[in-house]
Amino acid sequence: MTTWNEYAEQRGTLPEWPYPVQYDKESEIAADVLIIGGGVAGSHAAISAARLGAKVVIAETGHLKRSGSGGSGVDHWHGACKNPCSKVTPLDYTQAVMESAHGYSNGMARYITCSEGWDTLLECEEIGVQIRDVHDEFKGAEFRDDETKLMFAYDYTNRHIMRVWGYNLKQCLYYEMKRLGVEMYNRTVVTSLLTEGGRQGGRVVGATGVNMRTGEFYVFRSKATIIASGGGGRLYSFAPELTASSSMSTMNSAGTGHAVGWDAGAEFVLMEQTGPGRLSGFGYAPYSMGNTHNTYHGTSIVDANGKEVPWFDPFGRELKTVEQRFLPNGEQRFQLGAGIGLGTYAEEYRSSDLARDLPERIRKGEFQLPLYADLTRLSEMERRCIWGMMIGNEGKSRIPIYDTLTKAGFDPDKDMLQAPVMVPEAYQHSNFWGGTPIPHLRSLAGGGFLVDWDLRTSLEGLYAAGTSPVFGAGCHGESHTMGRYAARKAAAYAKACAEPVVDRQQVAAEKARAYRPIKQNKNGAGWKELNYAIARVMQDYCGKYKNLRTLNRGLSLLKELKENEGAAAYAANPHELGRMLECFSLITLGEMVMHASLERKCSSAYLDFYRLDYPQMDPPEWEKHLPMRQEDGRVAVRELPLDFHLKAPYAPSYEENYERHAH
Ligand SMILES: Cc1cc2nc3c(=O)[nH]c(=O)nc-3n(C[C@H](O)[C@H](O)[C@H](O)COP(=O)(O)OP(=O)(O)OC[C@H]3O[C@@H](n4cnc5c(N)ncnc54)[C@H](O)[C@@H]3O)c2cc1C
Repeated sequence: MTTWNEYAEQRGTLPEWPYPVQYDKESEIAADVLIIGGGVAGSHAAISAARLGAKVVIAETGHLKRSGSGGSGVDHWHGACKNPCSKVTPLDYTQAVMESAHGYSNGMARYITCSEGWDTLLECEEIGVQIRDVHDEFKGAEFRDDETKLMFAYDYTNRHIMRVWGYNLKQCLYYEMKRLGVEMYNRTVVTSLLTEGGRQGGRVVGATGVNMRTGEFYVFRSKATIIASGGGGRLYSFAPELTASSSMSTMNSAGTGHAVGWDAGAEFVLMEQTGPGRLSGFGYAPYSMGNTHNTYHGTSIVDANGKEVPWFDPFGRELKTVEQRFLPNGEQRFQLGAGIGLGTYAEEYRSSDLARDLPERIRKGEFQLPLYADLTRLSEMERRCIWGMMIGNEGKSRIPIYDTLTKAGFDPDKDMLQAPVMVPEAYQHSNFWGGTPIPHLRSLAGGGFLVDWDLRTSLEGLYAAGTSPVFGAGCHGESHTMGRYAARKAAAYAKACAEPVVDRQQVAAEKARAYRPIKQNKNGAGWKELNYAIARVMQDYCGKYKNLRTLNRGLSLLKELKENEGAAAYAANPHELGRMLECFSLITLGEMVMHASLERKCSSAYLDFYRLDYPQMDPPEWEKHLPMRQEDGRVAVRELPLDFHLKAPYAPSYEENYERHAH
């Protein structure tokens, strides 16, 4: 293997850009349904629309074979409420989520995904994903149904979360898209939405994109468009040279979908909701360290002297056995499970966990660091399932963690996994590999497009799907299922709508904007510098604690960044150009978060939102959504009840709305 230094020494020059650069080339591509972003939501949407006979085009920044957060795998699938073993109905689940979030979640998306999540998973099985223990590896285990061979996570009584062998799931979706003739544009960053007459707030008739290898400009003309572009993982922290930087989200997670929707005039809600951003930059490789969260739920933790940390149920009662960690306790009907885009859980639905006062106990010397995950204290089936089936299929853990540690000799029958050594407070949350939380590092939580029961946005012709574009929803299964559902609605709209007409002036203006960075002086800032600066502004002025002045100052700094460093920023090749355009989107995304934060004039525990100038927590008059959109260069805000989805023009029940809209 040749290193960069050797290459430069041998040839006296750096390598040429390996692809033909065609900045001047413009192609127009027509679609019935255009999908922006090909993670699991976008890919499943493509399959769904293509099966309905629509001409489908999908544009993806990465490569569709492995793109998105689910690209490297998945080990558990939430919300499969209609699987034959589930004791939880879609209504139970939806109500539990809404109660847990105090209404600040998405009842429509939850009900839709619970109603169809199992069918969606069966579709994955049909295209090659293993969803059952077909080799009888876990026959007789507590978490297995021996008749159907299905396996469950978290709550072994109620059985609505499935354990799946999802390491190849994204590839299965990719080959099915290929088989169905979906037209795929890989390495393409979508840069704007096109609207009828070029009018903000008008019907969406397509999008523009830039190929990050050739620089070619695409004009996508579409009858219906679905945004499935994920979230904005690079907004608050960006440190790609650090181990595990942005490790949970993909590097392509730049909020472009939100930004193009905002510029087109779509309405958004909950953009002020952020959560701890400890997963980016300063944590450890996902799933690499001892912990008890998610994939490792139920694992025993011991201290340096081998003393076990006790587990408690959500009502504060110590659990006597390991088995109880996987069962609802006392007055609980069922447990929801972690990782479903919920910041808060009502105790009735929360899973058992390590002692909540573990930080204090560490401080007092009751437990001595380092802590270790001791899998030997679990049953053999549980141990093999966590270290094997789950770590072997979960995203980003099959090769870097499971293979690497196994090859290095790690044996879960006798070895322990060390947890990171952190400040005691960091052990409050069982996801230890996230590292020590840093208060001003945040991440987007529930914010997204305001959608209706069709998962249509406020703009005609524009639908949303997946984790983040749809407000208040998100996990792996939900993303597939939203994609599948939104595509049905989009395909139906595409059949009936008028032919889309692209406004050439709008295209020309976007093309000029998109290519500006390649025409700048080489001394201009690069995309990484710009990204660092954006993240720093967000951390400082819109971190966990904020007030009117910090937010206004943050907005003016973002504007300055856009007009000074951004306007003069330089991209040396099509890849850098794509990344730079993502940075411009990040500026817009940051502005959206700051505007939304300015509009909520209270603090809220449910939204993890703290205004120092409005310290009152959750005053009743502020329990509402604040949909906002751009109109003539200013931000327009209105009010919407948290249960708007069960109020006119909608029906008063989930079941009725679903029946009216789903088919
Ligand atoms: C390591 C890891 C493990 C996880 N494990 C689980 C699990 O076990 N169970 C679970 O429920 N959830 C899990 N999750 C979460 C789950 O994977 C996500 O909720 C889900 O994959 C989101 O899918 P999505 O398609 O909505 O969004 P994403 O996966 O974010 O996909 C969005 C896609 O859009 C593309 N894109 C973005 N902007 C543009 C643009 N402008 N133009 C074109 N393309 C664009 C991106 O490249 C990306 O491929 C895990 C996540 C990670 C990272």
